[in-house]
Order: sequence, then structure tokens, then C-alpha cells
Amino acid sequence: MGGHEIEVKRSKRIPSTDEDALETKIGEARDSEKDILLATHSCFGKLSESYMAQTFLHEIMHHVASIYLQRAVSEKVIGGLSEGLFQVLRTNKLDFSGKE
Ligand SMILES: [Zn+2]
Repeated sequence: MGGHEIEVKRSKRIPSTDEDALETKIGEARDSEKDILLATHSCFGKLSESYMAQTFLHEIMHHVASIYLQRAVSEKVIGGLSEGLFQVLRTNKLDFSGKE
């Protein structure tokens, strides 16, 4: 992305860096490591495929914002754009690969 290789790492859980966090973190885009961490489980159990896919898109958007928009995008905007884009992609079964 933007000439950088972004590594995607899946694991059951993502170690929390904030001990007071009330929610289990299920995704993280790390600029310094140029990677995306994705959890397969939350504190409630295994995450659905659609939830993991939407989280992956959300974390991709963080790297897009970091690389192309100098990080000048709020979490709220990232959340709204990634959820809206995910809904449109899924509802319309969009596939840009050209395969039938
Ligand atoms: Zn986020």
C-alpha cells in the first residue's frame, strides 16, 4: 500500500495495550510495524466472518488514511466509511477481480 508492504497477522486475541480497556480489541493497524493485527475471537467467542471482514476493511482504511491523508481522519470517519463501504460491497456482491 503506497509502496509499503503491509503484513496481516491473525491470532485468537490481540494483546491489549490499555489495561483499562473495557472491550476486547479485535483489530489494530500499526504504522510503525506496517502491519494489521486481526483477532479471530472476542471475549464473547469466535467472531463471524462478516465481522472479521469488516474489521479488516476498517484497519485497511487506517493505513490508507495514514499513507494518503497524513492521518487527518478521525476514528468516527474511519468507522463510518469502512462500515458503509463494507455494506455496499457485501449487498451488491461486488468483486473487482473480473472473475465470473
Ligand atoms: Zn479504528
